[in-house]
Amino acid sequence: MTPPAPASGLLDGRVALVTGAASGIGQGIAVAYAREGADVVVVDLAGERDAAATLDGIRAAGHEPLHVQADVSDAAAVQAMAAAALERFGRVDVLVNNAGIFREALVESMTVEDWDRVIAVNLRSVFLCTRALLPQMLERSDGRIITIASQLGQIGGAGAAHYAASKAGVIGLTKSLAREVSARGVLVNAIAPGPIETPLLAGETEAWRSTKLAELPIGRFGRVEEVVPTAVLLASAGGSYYVGQTLGPNGGDVML
Ligand code: NAP
Repeated sequence: MTPPAPASGLLDGRVALVTGAASGIGQGIAVAYAREGADVVVVDLAGERDAAATLDGIRAAGHEPLHVQADVSDAAAVQAMAAAALERFGRVDVLVNNAGIFREALVESMTVEDWDRVIAVNLRSVFLCTRALLPQMLERSDGRIITIASQLGQIGGAGAAHYAASKAGVIGLTKSLAREVSARGVLVNAIAPGPIETPLLAGETEAWRSTKLAELPIGRFGRVEEVVPTAVLLASAGGSYYVGQTLGPNGGDVML
């Protein structure tokens, strides 16, 4: 693993909430934000024990995290999550909608349950978390909302229609919300990574992995630390002129 860039206080004094932060990209973002000076709320289906690596990483950066166990597709759970975060830290400056699931299935054999679950976790959750935390950002005219989409939301993927639809959905949500709130101090953007080595990708079939690998101009899958700097940029002062964008650390899978 490549060592992270030295921290330089880019997020000093900020409060961030990262969903799906027990693992993969969310874990990388949560720990990097703490290293850059932020207090971090770690939200995940996972309990404290399964989120331990993230929580320990944040503590090692000198911050005491708040862990909230919640299903981000559940409206009541999301309201409780927001209330817990606001009670502990008084505000949330940066929301990272990262929690997501992938289940490979062709449309012809996809179950309604699979479709509904993927859309609920990957798209409905982004609406719910955003709606829960946006008002306090607007009150202060200050906030950043960053949603982890996917390059498959831009180009589609065989065996991934529900996933690609959910990710195209969050890109549309991002652009729409950016048009609603950017003049009121809240900046809204998305990141659409290419295939990144995380537990999510580990669930893919070998056939899917080798087909995808052959399509990638860079010739390899990406690493979490190759996505994290984009999330730091969008949360920090350097990201102040990004509005409704979808940034693509994707190994060349998509070139716009
Ligand atoms: P990951 O390692 O599986 O992490 C996802 C995390 O989200 C897990 O900790 C998972 O918890 C949590 N989660 C799942 N459903 C949840 C729910 N309903 N409520 C709360 N937390 C939930 O996957 P990742 O690769 O880091 O993915 C992070 C994001 O990046 C996702 O939105 C994914 O679609 C996106 N992305 C990933 C790739 C890639 O190739 N890895 C590429 C493009 C985009 P459990 O483990 O307990 O279920």
